[in-house]
Amino acid sequence: MKSEIEMKSSMTEKESRLWNAMHRFNPDEKGMVAVSGEGSWFKDENGKEYLDGVSGLWCLNLGYGRQEIVDAAAEQMKKLSYFPLTMNHQPAIRLAEKISDLLEAEYQTFFSNSGSEANETAFKIARQYHIQTGNPGKYKFISRYRAYHGSTMGAMSATAQAIRRVKYDPSAPGFLHVAPPYSYRSLYSGNQEEKDLRAADELEEMIKWEGEETIAAFIMEPFISGGGVIIPSMKYIQRVAEICREKNVLLIMDEVVSGFGRTGKMFGFMHTSNVQPDIVTMAKGLTSGYLPLGATAVKAEIYEAFKKEGKDNHLRHVSTYGGHPAACAVGLKNIEIIEKENIVGRVDALGQSKLKILHDLKNHANVGEVRQIGFLLGLEMVENKETKVPLSDAKMNEIISSCKQKGLIIGKNGDTVPGGNNILIIAPPLTSTEEDLDFINETVSSVIHHM
Ligand code: PMP
Repeated sequence: MKSEIEMKSSMTEKESRLWNAMHRFNPDEKGMVAVSGEGSWFKDENGKEYLDGVSGLWCLNLGYGRQEIVDAAAEQMKKLSYFPLTMNHQPAIRLAEKISDLLEAEYQTFFSNSGSEANETAFKIARQYHIQTGNPGKYKFISRYRAYHGSTMGAMSATAQAIRRVKYDPSAPGFLHVAPPYSYRSLYSGNQEEKDLRAADELEEMIKWEGEETIAAFIMEPFISGGGVIIPSMKYIQRVAEICREKNVLLIMDEVVSGFGRTGKMFGFMHTSNVQPDIVTMAKGLTSGYLPLGATAVKAEIYEAFKKEGKDNHLRHVSTYGGHPAACAVGLKNIEIIEKENIVGRVDALGQSKLKILHDLKNHANVGEVRQIGFLLGLEMVENKETKVPLSDAKMNEIISSCKQKGLIIGKNGDTVPGGNNILIIAPPLTSTEEDLDFINETVSSVIHHM
């Protein structure tokens, strides 16, 4: 069998262009080449139109082709085309203030270019914070199995999906993993809340066994997205926040996917009460994907530890392009539109009235569970509801290809279920029209019913 490198070197130029453009959710298939997009739809080079049911990579919160956002970038580029954040520029200051407002508490923000970098930044801040507050032994991070936190070495080390790591390990030392609140496949009995709270107990146990004086932070998405749309009971989120507070373990909330309206709240953690993360990381929906931007928002109390005079207490972390003026201007315009058009309220309402229809699929023999919050939906596909054996890759690919033929892009994920990649993902742009959502419902339902 030829290696990937041999295959690539024997390709024609066109084939290799297609190779590079392969669709991430379906690497067995040659990807199409997109040329334009508007709203929730894009067109390929043959003129075929597709509804983007996964918002690119869950990032196109406002959809394709918003002229106001393009104008905001162009105007900023004309005015100040670049400036480093080792000094300051107005769009970054204004965006940092806006993020603090949206988080409903006082936060300071460090800007980067992506979700991975936002998480790397959070890890460095957490370690340095503990050193500068008299706890230098606190260096370990805990994340959950199935979590995805990025592709760079630190973020990958927090990403606890074996398949994404196996060819790149050993990963960074000091990263530990604990069970997720995955009630569908939980080892415990009881209702969802009871099972999820046992997962929180496991976190508490791990901190105890490792020694709380060694744990710097716990990183979590409020709702695991890339690991298969796992939506815990809200009590779980509250309980892990409480455990972190008790043990002086910083709570890093990865809102890279769930931020900026995706789940029907501005941020995912806002579905709970009494949870105010120490650090919030963002990217994707922060600019709706129009330009790259990552952000690490840190509570004012933590920031204080970096302001102490006398010693070298500042954060030794620089990003040449992080917080680029045009990206910050796009972020500001993006948030302005999200607020003006009440995108958050719209996602909440339409998530319940329209996407909810897909819950009817749970009566189908191959749909084990339907999980949804706002415009984030996962269908856990199985061969058999009793045994919960994951649906085969071949059948998963068939569903995705049939949807694609009908003009709908959906994704799949969940690589860490033994033998399976069996969760269908639907996460359309938050501006999708009611007709778009009907199209998603009809297409997915008819493909599943005819499989
Ligand atoms: N965190 C989460 C939850 C993500 O889903 C992703 C990307 N899919 C990242 C971090 C990393 O973001 P990026 O690809 O921008 O580095």
